[in-house]
Amino acid sequence: MKTNDLKAQDAEIFSIVSRETARQNSEIELIASENYASPAVLEALATPLANKYSEGYPGKRYYGGNQIIDELENLAISRAKQLFSAEHVNVQPLSGSPANAAVYMAFLEPGDTILGLKLDHGGHLSHGHPVNFSGRLYNFIQYGVDSESGLIDMAEVRRLAIQHKPKMIVAGFSAYSREIDWQAFQDIADEVGAFTFADIAHIAGLIAAGELNNPVPIFDVVSTTTHKTLRGPRGAIIMCKEKYAAQVNRAVFPGMQGGPHDNMTAAKAVAFGEALQSEFKGYAKQVIINAKVMAQEFINLGYKVVSGGTDNHLFIVDFSGCGYSGKDAEKKLELAGISVSRSTIPNDPNPPMNPSGIRVGTPAVTTRGFKEEEIKKLVSLMARVLEGDEGEGLIVKGEIENLCREFPVYN
Ligand SMILES: *Cc1c(COP(=O)(O)O)cnc(C)c1O
Repeated sequence: MKTNDLKAQDAEIFSIVSRETARQNSEIELIASENYASPAVLEALATPLANKYSEGYPGKRYYGGNQIIDELENLAISRAKQLFSAEHVNVQPLSGSPANAAVYMAFLEPGDTILGLKLDHGGHLSHGHPVNFSGRLYNFIQYGVDSESGLIDMAEVRRLAIQHKPKMIVAGFSAYSREIDWQAFQDIADEVGAFTFADIAHIAGLIAAGELNNPVPIFDVVSTTTHKTLRGPRGAIIMCKEKYAAQVNRAVFPGMQGGPHDNMTAAKAVAFGEALQSEFKGYAKQVIINAKVMAQEFINLGYKVVSGGTDNHLFIVDFSGCGYSGKDAEKKLELAGISVSRSTIPNDPNPPMNPSGIRVGTPAVTTRGFKEEEIKKLVSLMARVLEGDEGEGLIVKGEIENLCREFPVYN
């Protein structure tokens, strides 16, 4: 069998892959949940490991021929344990949402009460949104952020916990820019007898690098995607205390999933290996510096930033009063070759499809090598796009392409 023949065999798909790769090279990616996986991670994904069926766990498979895959999965687990100081790790979850489904299944029965962060205050769909399985299967009670400070209102978390006696408290977010006091959550959970679940999908890379506080030694169970700040393949892992290992494993398989994607396990292991290197610590540090500089530049130009800044890799720009919405801003920036995601602001008067803000994140631009200087230049270009007309957007697009050429992502 030949390999490397996509171009010869399927010109249509080859063309799509080439054009998308070129787009990623020539445009600015500020979507906080995206990153550029390394060539080694991508290489591991495109291997014959994709062919194997490995239902079960190392040493206990439902299919033959898994000796080498067992070695792989054990290595991925041991690297993840080292990275996060975890007692137990399951590396099989296919993505963040299925990982969270497995966590709920491992600890709860349908109908049980869970406390989670409101979606429009920065929570995730899988933390109880009514259209999501989580909101349909479980009784979610939602806490929010303080409307003055933009910080999670821990007094409200405690009040709701005492009032509703949840079986689980979820801490974690998709659009919150401040450090989380994991111990304060654990203390509240201890007071009411709830399990603690941290969803660190966004910040896992920053935690692995030691730049943000790690909930793994404190919380009962922690899930994370592997493709955001952690910069691995699309996928997820679940970490927990050893005493919950069996129930978590059972919930992933056979509870939620069939066979793991072994090529993805290999790519996760490669990414964990990368994150254990000292270069990755430098990367994570720069991600946060870049986000802080970027938020401050927006503030200097007169824009509002939710909570006034950031401790991590992202922040929310609030355009209320600017005469345009987050969706308008997203569209304008897209024309200039800059990707951001529209975002609600806390207590947003506008609907989620046309919210008041945008979420801006620095993991991807930092991977391509941006430092403070490029970040400042980028914000001034963004302001020109936001305040200017379509013609200005097209002029800026040219400047963005020049900037991107200096910092190529993939050859
Ligand atoms: C991204 C994200 C997820 C879901 O990840 P998918 O891989 O897209 O399913 C779950 N939780 C949080 C907090 C996230 O930010």
